[in-house]
Formats: sequence, C-alpha cells, structure tokens
Amino acid sequence: MLIFRKPLENVERPQMPADVVIVGGGPAGMACALRLSQLIDQHNVAQPDAPLSKENIYVLEKAREVGQHCLSGALLDPRSMRELLPGFEKEAPLDAEVTKESVYFLTEKGKLKFPVTPPPLRDHGNYVISINRFVKWLGSKVEETGITVFTGFAGSELLYGLDGDGNRVTGVRTDDKGVDKENQQKSNFEPGYDLQAKVVILAEGTRGSLTKQLISKFDLTRNSNPQTWGQGVKELWEVPSGRVAPGEVIYTMGWPLTSKEYGGAWIYGSKDNVVSLGFVTGLDYPDPRLDPQKVLQDFKQHPFVAKLLEGGKMIRYGAKSLPYGGWWALPPLAGDGWMIVGDSAGFLNSARLKGIHLAIKSGMLAAETAFEALKKDDSSAATLGAFQKNVEASWIKDELWKVRNMHQGFEHGFYAGMFHTGLQMFTGGRGLHNRYPSKAGYEHMKKLAELPPDGGGEAHLLGPAKGDGKLTFDKLTDLYHSGTKHEEDQPAHLVIRDTDICNTRCVKEFGSPCQNFCPANVYEMVEDTTQLNGKRISLNPSNCVHCKTCDIIDPYQIITWVPPEGGGGPNYDGM
Ligand code: SF4
Repeated sequence: MLIFRKPLENVERPQMPADVVIVGGGPAGMACALRLSQLIDQHNVAQPDAPLSKENIYVLEKAREVGQHCLSGALLDPRSMRELLPGFEKEAPLDAEVTKESVYFLTEKGKLKFPVTPPPLRDHGNYVISINRFVKWLGSKVEETGITVFTGFAGSELLYGLDGDGNRVTGVRTDDKGVDKENQQKSNFEPGYDLQAKVVILAEGTRGSLTKQLISKFDLTRNSNPQTWGQGVKELWEVPSGRVAPGEVIYTMGWPLTSKEYGGAWIYGSKDNVVSLGFVTGLDYPDPRLDPQKVLQDFKQHPFVAKLLEGGKMIRYGAKSLPYGGWWALPPLAGDGWMIVGDSAGFLNSARLKGIHLAIKSGMLAAETAFEALKKDDSSAATLGAFQKNVEASWIKDELWKVRNMHQGFEHGFYAGMFHTGLQMFTGGRGLHNRYPSKAGYEHMKKLAELPPDGGGEAHLLGPAKGDGKLTFDKLTDLYHSGTKHEEDQPAHLVIRDTDICNTRCVKEFGSPCQNFCPANVYEMVEDTTQLNGKRISLNPSNCVHCKTCDIIDPYQIITWVPPEGGGGPNYDGM
C-alpha cells in the first residue's frame, strides 16, 4: 500500500507570530521581500516615531539553499529589475547581453530561417542568465535587509481564520520533519511551525501547492479560463568554442513536434562556452505516449542542433512546468489575508517565452500592497484587493493583454495557431474574439483507442528515449545530472487519490502516461499478477525534480503534488 505525506495530526506545533510570510524564495518572492524592505526603510526615515519592523517578515524556501529549485531558460528582460534596484547590472550575475537572435522552422532534416525575427522574440537588451545564480544573488540582497529567509522549509498547509467565518487566511504551516515512510515520527521528528501571519503571499512558482489548495477552497478560478501549462526540459552543455556566441539566442518551431502539439526550443549562448538548450512541450498534447524528455532528445539529433553540440558535454539537466494560460487564466490575485504572485498566479508571457520580469514586478506590487496593509494594520480583502487594481494599472497588464488569446489560438493545432497569432498581432491581441475560450490541457489527451492506428505521425515522439550517452540520454542519465536528492525514509509526496484507477483503468485506457510525462522516472508500472491487468503502479518519489507535470496533466486528475520534507529536491546549480 502506498502511504502519502500529510501533516501529522494531534501534534503540538510551535506558534510563531508573523507580519508577512512569503511562501517561495524565487524571483517573485525575493523581489517582494526586497521591495517591502525598501518601503519600510523609507517609512522609518520619514516617520521615526511610528517605525515598522522587518523582524516578523519571513520568506519560506523549500530548497536546501536559495535558488536550488529555480529553473528557467533563462533570459531576463531587465525592466522590473531596473525599477527594483536601479543600476543592478553592475553587480548582478548576468552572463551575457543578447546581441543576436534567429528563429527557425525545422523539418526532420532541414531548417528554414525566418527572414525577420517576430517582435515577441526580439531580445536585444535582454540578458542570458543562470536563474539559479541570479536568485541566489537576490536572496543575498534580501538577507542583507534583515528579513529572515528560512531555507529547507516548505509551506505544507494554509491556516484559516480561527475568528470570524474561517474564510480568512491567517498563516502557513511548515512541513513536519523526521516522518518515516509509514507516516510515523522518527527519533529526529520536528513538527512544522504555525506561522500566524497578517499577510500571506504565495510565491511558490508554477502550480503552487498552497495556491492550488486556496483556489480549490474558494473556487477562485470559476470565472477564469482553465490554466494551461508547458513542460520545459533543459540541458546545459559545454561545447567547443565558437559554436554559439555568448548572448546569441536561437528559437526553433516545428520538428520534432507535429502540427498537433504546441511547443518549441531555445538555444542560448552563455559565457565560458556554456550553452543552455531546452524544449517546451505544451501539456495539452493528444497522444498519451508522448514523452517531453524524448522530444528534447529527438530535437538534439536534428543535424542543425547536433552540429552545435558535437564534441560537447552535457553537464546539467532539469525540468519544470510553466503556466501558459495568460491573462484570462489568472485567478483573483488577493483576498482576506492573501495574495498570489509570479508563476503561482500565472504571470508569464508565452509569446515571449518570458516570465521572470513579470514575476519580479508582481512581487513588487504585492509588497507595496502588503506595506499599506501593515501601516493600516488591516489585511482584509478590501485592503489587499489594491494589488489586483495595481496589477491592472501596471505594465504587466499592458504586456499580457496584447497576447491574451495567444495560447488559446493554438488549441486546434499549429496552423490554426499561426493564423490566429497573425490576426491577433494586427488587432492588439483580440483576433476573432475578445476572449478566446480554452480547455484544460489534460482534456486534450486521447485514449489509446481513439488514436489513429499509425500513431498519426507522432511515432518518433513516443518515449522512452534510450540515448547514446553522448548526444542523447535516457531519463535516468539525465536525472543524475539534476543533482536531485530527498530523504528516502519519508511518505510519498505524490498523493494519488485512488491507485485502483491507475491499476485498472488508466493502464488500459491511456497506457499509463505518467511513465512518459514524468521527466524523472518517478512513476513505474511494475508486474503484479494479483492485479486484473497484471500491473501495479509503483513510485520512486526520491527522483522527483518538482516540475509538477503529474499534478497538471494526469488525465483523471487524481495526482496531487505536495512538498516533500524541506531541503529535498533538485540542485539546479548554475542552471
Ligand atoms: Fe514532475 Fe511529478 Fe515527475 Fe515529480 S513526479 S518529476 S513533479 S512529473
């Protein structure tokens, strides 16, 4: 029997008062903490007789060290950083300024260069960065302010009002430590803290687990389009000099995806002959046998890409989902005691393949609202609701509004998508309708019986990749390069509501797609003669790279990702 991780009951937990708790120490969370500190400093100079303290402001970060779980391409549009820390370029770890872009459409062996780079993909003035190093640096700035960053602490539950109607978020419970596979306390057991906070800011990154709880409890997305995601699979390579110049950016569309899938690749030249390359596959593909990690391996075998990598060495690997849904998929951003920022809300411009600058700006705006709440000592929805208004009045809305229908335009395939994108470009993002509808990504997945008998041209995409060990890799070899580690003796943090569905229905109807969409080999169907279909689901949670894909695309929606014991997960050093 699988036993899943959940906060233990009947445990006395230390209670800690807090003014603001920011859950997640990525770009949004760190920018939020930094902006809040700046505002408090200014206030304390202007009003020394009514100072505000930073002592009870906390950032919770589930990774062992700041930045370890951060993964992105990454290109930084510096707009929000210039607002947060003018002149940041002088001291931030920026690898190279973008000086050259090109976009290609790939066929299996050929390539067609776009004569002009489409405006959303023009990156001159942006920076190639390692998001891991960048966030580490941001984190050090936060620590200099006196705000406490708790690393190795995940938020495992939201606390709701003890007073009133219980509909108010009043804090965060951190994860229990020292719990064994059977959900029993070990000798090193330490209960999680209850941080009783005036304001909770959810900056958990993509498909945040507390954000998911909150959205579900209050049915927050009833008026939004369903959020849709992509899965980015990334490898970092060292290549012989002269292959991709620092600051050179290459995007590709087309092969190995067919016209039925959404996605594309990036290749970014960094300093010291390091190349970041990756493939984003929209998590709304029809064939359950598709494997996004295999898509990246196929992509590297294209003659154009293989030539760039020849003689090089893969040094790091990682994967992460990213929210594609855009403006219409945003949930309400604030309520009684809470705000949602960054990828957790869905602040990502999928046309530009960029979200870091939006995450930072949303964190800053949330900080400004939290500051007002602290001054007034009022964190009700009426006060925190200013965050929603401030986002709508900011350049975040200007940017996302222009591409509000972009991803939905591709719901019926690549060619329809290009038609709608063209139309939207000339109508300020409108296209045929002000708001294109969309379906949740998992609803696009077809049952095996519904697939065309020849695989519909997708046979080359279907996993798992075997790998030649030089240019291409199987999942376990790739995974080894993610530095992933977890405490082994803990309950599974992938909570499957009903494993009978996996063993009896999914195996037959969809062919157990979890084995394919998971980029880390966490899910396996093992032989078991006691089962009706001779197979049973088995989990290797220690492999999990926290990409959240399973929580998103599982066709029965029975998988919930919850944070494992704090400190566990990938180590995306330099990624
Ligand atoms: Fe991603 Fe889920 Fe696999 Fe973990 S188990 S790596 S969250 S798909």
